[in-house]
Amino acid sequence: MKITAIETLVCNARMRNWVFVKILTNRPGLVGWGEATLEWHTRGVVGAVQDLAELLIGEDPTRVEYLWQMMWRQHFWHGSGVVRSTAISGIDLALWDIIGKVHGVPCHKLWGGPVRDSIRTYCHLGGGRLESFYETPVDNAAQFADLAQQAAEDGFSAFKSMAVPPTMPIEGMRSIRAADKCVAAMRDAVGEDIDIMVDCHARPSPAMGMQFAKALDLYGLYFFEEPCWPESLESLAAINAAVTTPIATGERLTHLAAFRDLFAARGCEVCQLDLTHCGGFTEARRIAALADAHRIALAPHNPQGPVSTAASLEFGFSQPSYIICESVHEDVPWRRDVVEEGYVLDEKTRTISPNMKPGLGVTINEEAIKKYPFQQELPQRVFYRDGAVGDW
Ligand SMILES: [Mg+2]
Repeated sequence: MKITAIETLVCNARMRNWVFVKILTNRPGLVGWGEATLEWHTRGVVGAVQDLAELLIGEDPTRVEYLWQMMWRQHFWHGSGVVRSTAISGIDLALWDIIGKVHGVPCHKLWGGPVRDSIRTYCHLGGGRLESFYETPVDNAAQFADLAQQAAEDGFSAFKSMAVPPTMPIEGMRSIRAADKCVAAMRDAVGEDIDIMVDCHARPSPAMGMQFAKALDLYGLYFFEEPCWPESLESLAAINAAVTTPIATGERLTHLAAFRDLFAARGCEVCQLDLTHCGGFTEARRIAALADAHRIALAPHNPQGPVSTAASLEFGFSQPSYIICESVHEDVPWRRDVVEEGYVLDEKTRTISPNMKPGLGVTINEEAIKKYPFQQELPQRVFYRDGAVGDW
């Protein structure tokens, strides 16, 4: 069996262009699907997939580790830059989809699963609608409470919010108090049985991240995400040590050695590896083994498209330390038109039972994708009060 072509299909989903990777083989009807979505880098990733395809055409798609080594190590530059690592990831997911189809089993069974009966999912406030999640101002605690209530009414037992605003490297109490009010309002709205997460998007400096973490510690957050830049390992470790709330990070790390350094510093309790950026299933399984050695939980980053979600779930049904699946369900109203999924979602509890179809279990509707061609992603830029550049 040989790889005959590797294609990308781009589908504009407002905030992101979903980049689907399709691997074709010389076996009639056998194709693999992956996803390599990287917001604001769509053209770069599509080009990187094309460059990598040169290495793989004519190779046996079932030799996935051999092909992964080729993609990572050949052509001199290692695959650790985010554009190349995203392209590698999309191809790797599609290769595993092919192996599952060749053997007639879902991917999680290739790795000894299922290790659990169901997977819990969490949503973003507003279901991932750009305006609700990213643009609800933190001085509007009432709106945070309304959206939290809605998430609970939609059946979710956990949700994530962006209750920490862009903050200059040092600021007074105003932004801390605003975040505190938002989290208090959400807790009041949903009670203690619903888990709340706060994502800082690495907006704060280490000093401000520490202040936010301490101020919000008493609310018993399920986890507190990216309280400072991912490069600041010592500061992540200091914050993780200073509060009882588990610190989460890892979505911007693209290879095993970066996770080694994060875990060695004890920079988190929750590892948010992204299967579409960290090197696909092949590297993710090594990262998971390393996380297990440190007893660090896994909650993959997954705000992208439906193939990424299917991948996160296949991974979750094979990994004992996987705790929850990030999900976005209302980013675009036609999300379900582009894919038929193999897994079964219980809409009452927002839990998922295992996919029984081969590979990732997804069937992609290529005609539906064509309705939403590439568009430049919407800008999401942050400037501080004084005009200086901030982090989104
Ligand atoms: Mg995040």
